[in-house]
Amino acid sequence: MRRQRPTVIAVSTLIAITLSTAAPTPANAAPPDQVSALTAHQADGYTTLAWQPVDGATDYQIERTPVDADNTPTGAPTVVGIWRPNRQINQQAPTFADAGYNPGDTFQWRVRARTGTTEQPYSDPVTATTTAPWGNPDTPGQNLRTQWETTHAAQYTSDTDEYAYTAAIDTLSDRVRVVELGRTVQNRPINMLVIGHPTPAATPAAIAATAPVAINCNVHGNEPGDREACLIMARQLAFSTDPRITDLLTHTTVLIVPTINGDGRANNTRGNSTGQDLNRDYSLIRQPETTAYIRMVRDYRPVAGYDGHEFGNSRAGDLPMLPPRHQNVAQPIFDQSQDMIEGHMYAKGAEAGWWACPYGCEGGGNVGLSEETILRNTLGLKNVTNSLLELRSSGGQTRPDEGNTANNRRRKTYSALWTFHQFLDYHRTDRADILQARTNAIESQAANTGRLVFRGSRPIPAHPAPHPGDSPPPLDAPPADLILDNAPCAYKLTDAQYNGARTDGPGGIGTTVAQRITAHGWKVIKTGDGYYVPLNQPERGLIPLLLDTKGVEKLTDGERVYPTLTGRRNGPLVVSGFTCADDATINGPVTVRPGAALVTTATTISGPLTATGAVGIMLADSTINGPVRITNTTDTISVIDATIAGPVDLSGNTTGTDAPVLAGTTIRGPLTCTGNNPTPHNLGIANTVHGPRTTQCAAL
Ligand SMILES: [Zn+2]
Repeated sequence: MRRQRPTVIAVSTLIAITLSTAAPTPANAAPPDQVSALTAHQADGYTTLAWQPVDGATDYQIERTPVDADNTPTGAPTVVGIWRPNRQINQQAPTFADAGYNPGDTFQWRVRARTGTTEQPYSDPVTATTTAPWGNPDTPGQNLRTQWETTHAAQYTSDTDEYAYTAAIDTLSDRVRVVELGRTVQNRPINMLVIGHPTPAATPAAIAATAPVAINCNVHGNEPGDREACLIMARQLAFSTDPRITDLLTHTTVLIVPTINGDGRANNTRGNSTGQDLNRDYSLIRQPETTAYIRMVRDYRPVAGYDGHEFGNSRAGDLPMLPPRHQNVAQPIFDQSQDMIEGHMYAKGAEAGWWACPYGCEGGGNVGLSEETILRNTLGLKNVTNSLLELRSSGGQTRPDEGNTANNRRRKTYSALWTFHQFLDYHRTDRADILQARTNAIESQAANTGRLVFRGSRPIPAHPAPHPGDSPPPLDAPPADLILDNAPCAYKLTDAQYNGARTDGPGGIGTTVAQRITAHGWKVIKTGDGYYVPLNQPERGLIPLLLDTKGVEKLTDGERVYPTLTGRRNGPLVVSGFTCADDATINGPVTVRPGAALVTTATTISGPLTATGAVGIMLADSTINGPVRITNTTDTISVIDATIAGPVDLSGNTTGTDAPVLAGTTIRGPLTCTGNNPTPHNLGIANTVHGPRTTQCAAL
C-alpha cells in the first residue's frame, strides 16, 4: 500500500493531549470542539485544507471568504464544502480540496466541526493567494491559454480554438507532436498530442516500446470538463521545467486525445452527429471516431489509460472511478486497475482532499456494468490497465457553493487535472507492476483457458470502512445463458461474413468485418474454406463478444471451431487445412503443408516442427522439443509463451500488414530471422534466447 498521511499530526495530537493533562488549561486555550491547526496548501486550481480532527465530530463545514490584499473581505463568507467521514480512507488527517474559485484570487478559509447538527466554533482563519493559471505569462508556450481559461470558465474552448492551441503547442515544444488519428463524421480532425522528453519517439512502434499511457477526453460531447483538463495538461507537459514532469516524460510517452467526439462537443450532444453514443461503440467500431481510437490502441499499444466523463450524481464524491470489470478481462488487468484506483487514487485523494469513490459512489444506481462497448471494458479486454473517470457534474450537499456555473466548471476541470497527474505518477512508480500485469494477461489470454462470459462483471467489493463512497456499483453477475464453459479454438467466418457490405455505420454504410478485425489488430488465417480467427491471441476475451452467436452486441455469427487434435499421438504428423491442437502430446515430427494452418495451446510436440508456405502458425502456451522452422508463411505467425528446444528459424515470411509475433518465449538455441516482411515484434514481452540472434530478431 502507499504512503500514509503524516504521522506528524498524530504526534502533535499526542503532545497536545499530554500537555492538557499535565498542566492547567490556559485561559486563552481553544475550546475543545474548535478546529485547530488549519492549513491551506495551494495547487493548480484547488486548495488543500487540512486540520486537526475534533473528537466526536459528525462532519465539518469549510467556509471561504474573498479578501483583498489587505485581508479585508470583498464578499460574503460562503460554506463551500462539507467534509464527511467517508470522504477519505483515513480519518486522523481530514483534508478538503476547495476548488471552483478563480485561480489567482485571494481568500480566507475557516473550518468548523458539527456534532450532530450542532455547529461548533470556527477555527482561526487562514488567508492565502491561490495559484494562478499554469504558465508564466512572459514565457512563450507557457503563456498559451485556452478559451476556457481566458473567459474564466464562462465559455468552453471551441473546436477552432482547440486546433489553434494544440498547433501552437506543437510548434513551440520539441516534446510534442500532434497527430491526426482520423476525422469525425462531420470531418473534424481527431487530434492526439504525443508527448515525450526530449522529443517523442518517431513512430508508433517506437512509442509503443516506451510503454505509453493514454488519456481520452470528451467522448460524450456534453461532458466537457475533462477536455479542458486535457488541454491544460498538454501545455504543462509541453513547457514545464519541473523535474517531476521531465522525469515522467523521460520514462514514457503521454498520449492525449482532448476531443474524441468533436462533433458532439460542437453541438453539445452526448452522442456523435449520428446520435450514436460513442462509449457504446468501442468494440463494434461502427463510427469513424471509435475506429480511430481503436487503431491508435493497436499501433501505439498504451499500457495504461484513463477515460474522462461527467456524472449526474450531485450528492457525494468528487471523482467516481471504475476499473474494467467484464469477466473476460484478464485477472491481472482487473487487479492492477483496482490497485491504481483504490491503492493509489484513494490514498492520494485523502492527501489532496479530493474524494475519489467507486462509480455510483452514493446511491449511484445501475451504472458501471460489463458492456464491452464501453472504452473502460474494451481497453481492459485489450490488456490495458485503466479506469473510467467521472467528474461530478454539479454541486450539492457536499459542495453547496456550486450552483455557480463557473465555479462548478472549474471544480470539475481541476479535479480532472489532479487525477490525470496522479495517473502519470502512478505509471511512474508502478510501471514494472503494470508491465508485469500486461505480460501475465497477454499470456493467460493467449493460453485460451477458462470459460467465456458474454456479459457480466467482476464484483467491486466495498472498500473497508470508512470507504470513500456508500455503495459500490451493482454486482452484475453473468446470467447462465451468457456463459460458455467450453471455449472454442477459433471462429470461422464465411467470405460473406468477413467481406460482406454492412449498413451499421453513418449514412447506412458500415466498414466490413474484415476492416474492423484489422482495426482491432487480431490475427486471421484464411484457408480454402473460410477465415479463421483463433482465440490463442492477446484479445481472446474480446473476440467471442463480436464473433460468437451468443454475443450480445456482435458483428456476426461466426462458427465455433473446436480442436481436432487432443491427447496423445505417436508418429509423424502432416497438417493440412486448419488444424487446432489443444492439450495434445504429439510424439513425432510435425510438418505443416503449404496452404495449411496450425494453432496450438497447451500442446507438446516432440520432434521438429516444419512449416513451409503455411497460411498461419499460431503457437501459445506450448512446448516444442526440437527445432522449429517457419518459412514463407503468407498470413500470420504468432508464438506466445512457448518453450522451444531450438534452433528456431523464421525466414522469408511475407504476412502483409500483420507483423509476426514472437513474445514471452524461451528458445534454447539460436534464433534466426531473415527476410521477413514485416519484421517480427514481441508485444513488449521479451523472449529468452540462449543462442545467438540475427538482426531482425536481435531486439526481441
Ligand atoms: Zn460520459
